[in-house]
Order: sequence, then structure tokens, then C-alpha cells
Amino acid sequence: MATIEMESVECVPSSDGIEDEEIQSSVSSQHQHSSKPHNVLLSGIGPTSVHELLECPVCTNSMYPPIHQCRNGHTLCSTCKTRVQNRCPTCRQELGDIRCLALEKVAESLELPCKYYSLGCPEIFPYYSKLKHEAICNFRPYSCPYAGSECSVTGDIPYLVSHLRDEHKVDMHTGCTFNHRYVKSNPREVENATWMLTVFHCFGQYFCLHFEAFQLGMAPVYMAFLRFMGNENDSRNYSYSLEVGANGRKLLWEGSPRSIRDSHRKVRDSHDGLIIQRNMALFFSGGDRKELKLRVTGRIWKEQQNPDAGVCIPTFVS
Ligand SMILES: [Zn+2]
Ligand SMILES: [Zn+2]
Ligand SMILES: [Zn+2]
Ligand SMILES: [Zn+2]
Repeated sequence: MATIEMESVECVPSSDGIEDEEIQSSVSSQHQHSSKPHNVLLSGIGPTSVHELLECPVCTNSMYPPIHQCRNGHTLCSTCKTRVQNRCPTCRQELGDIRCLALEKVAESLELPCKYYSLGCPEIFPYYSKLKHEAICNFRPYSCPYAGSECSVTGDIPYLVSHLRDEHKVDMHTGCTFNHRYVKSNPREVENATWMLTVFHCFGQYFCLHFEAFQLGMAPVYMAFLRFMGNENDSRNYSYSLEVGANGRKLLWEGSPRSIRDSHRKVRDSHDGLIIQRNMALFFSGGDRKELKLRVTGRIWKEQQNPDAGVCIPTFVS
């Protein structure tokens, strides 16, 4: 037990590398930010080297307790420890079961900016609650809203808009009303779902209109819904309607666009949109039921509390 503690104390060689001068100058430039001198010292190291110190050398993720180390002081995270079969990945020595309490304590005393700080998040957190915040941070990047592909691109909204246009060749429209025709020559192929996406730009925001075919239980259906390119809070400022019909019948959907924080699949599976049974869709298509020809009209508007509401006049095409 005593040996373990000894080794634990020795396990932060990186802090020895910090030169006194560096700490001195950091203290003087940072003293106005905190009343706790301990934190001032540590945050004075600067986020880069603090991250390096607490970064698992194997997987490069931030380390959280229990932080492990080998007999030579090489640290690694608990996830990696279970994977390396008792060999230190750095020096190949037997790993044992040594916890790096000193580094855990160092982490505990840290206050670090949210990792999306360069994207605009002003928040500062104790090390151990930072992760929780970052998972829900409003400034975290959005995932590409394109459905039907394994696109892993993330970024802010302007970036994703150009990504959708340039990489996915998505149609871009300006305006708050739309009149769209969806034509498919073989409406029987519902299992091979077709995804269509159109981006609308109005009220200074971007919206994704999804249209797709899928199997709802045993029934083949088509579904159209709108997602807001922004966070949940802002999405509540908008409403939209969708209308589809022909031959004296029509279906109307009115709703609030979901944020693209909610995955395309999640929105689809919650049926939060206009759902058209295939039989009805074929009826709306007219003709010999060999071809799907749906005209979907719609409108996006801003909710009442806003002075811009009412500017948008619906222009449904019948
Ligand atoms: Zn790791
Ligand atoms: Zn080692
Ligand atoms: Zn944040
Ligand atoms: Zn993409």
C-alpha cells in the first residue's frame, strides 16, 4: 500500500516540467479571474498543456477517475486500461493496478473553458462537470442533416448549408412558401426508401424539408416534415404547414419544425410530420397508379410574439 502511494505521488512528471517563470507570469496575468490561488496557478498553465497532461496518451480522450499509471509513471485512461492486457502501451512493462491519485486531484482542482469555446461558448467548468455540459452545450457543432447516408460531417449552420449544397447537391430555395412535386416512377419500391431533402432559407434561418418513403409497420407510407437548422429553443419560434391532395381530397399537417439536434430518424420514428398512406398517395397522383406524383405545398411562419410575423403570405397552388 505504501509503495503504491509513493508511486502515485511520483506520477505527475509533467508538472515538474513547468518552469517557475511561466507560472509567475501566468499568475500576474490571470489573477483577476479567480479568487482561488490554486486554480489560478493551474489554469495559468493554459488549456493546451492542461489538456496534454490529462489526455490519455493511448486514445487521446480526456481522462477521468480512475486514472491509471504504470510503474514508470505512464498514465492511461480506465477504458484503455481494460484493453491493453496488463502491459503499459508506452513502455511495455507490466501495468499492475496503480491509480494515479495525484493527477485525479490535479484534475479536480481545474476549471476549464468549454471545449466549444472557439465556437462562442463563454462557460467555464470544473473539470469533472465539463464533459456533462459539453454533451448538451448549445455551441456544440451540428451533425449533417442529410438523411440516407452515413455522413459524419459536423459544423456550424453556415458550414453545413454549403456542405449540403456542394457535397449532397441539395436544392436550395429562398422564401417561406413552397410548392414541390415529388415524382417516382416505381412507387412499389417502398422498402428502398428514397430520401429527398430541400433547404429553405427564410427569416434569416435555414430549414430542411424531408420527403421520404418507408414502411410504417406493414404499411408503406410517404412522409414529409420540416427540421430547423438551429437549436431546440429557437425552433419553437417557427411553425409550418404542409398540404397534399388532388381530386377534391387533401391532407393538411401543421406543426413546429424539430431542431436538427434531433436526428432525422428520431423525428421520422415519432411520426412528427405529414404521413400519407401509399394508397392515398397513389390516388393523389392520379393516372394509372404506376407513378407517384405528389404535389406538396407548404409554408413556414414565425410565431406571433415576433414583429416579423404576418410578413409571410401563403401562396398555395391548387
Ligand atoms: Zn485511453
Ligand atoms: Zn509505462
Ligand atoms: Zn459550452
Ligand atoms: Zn453531409
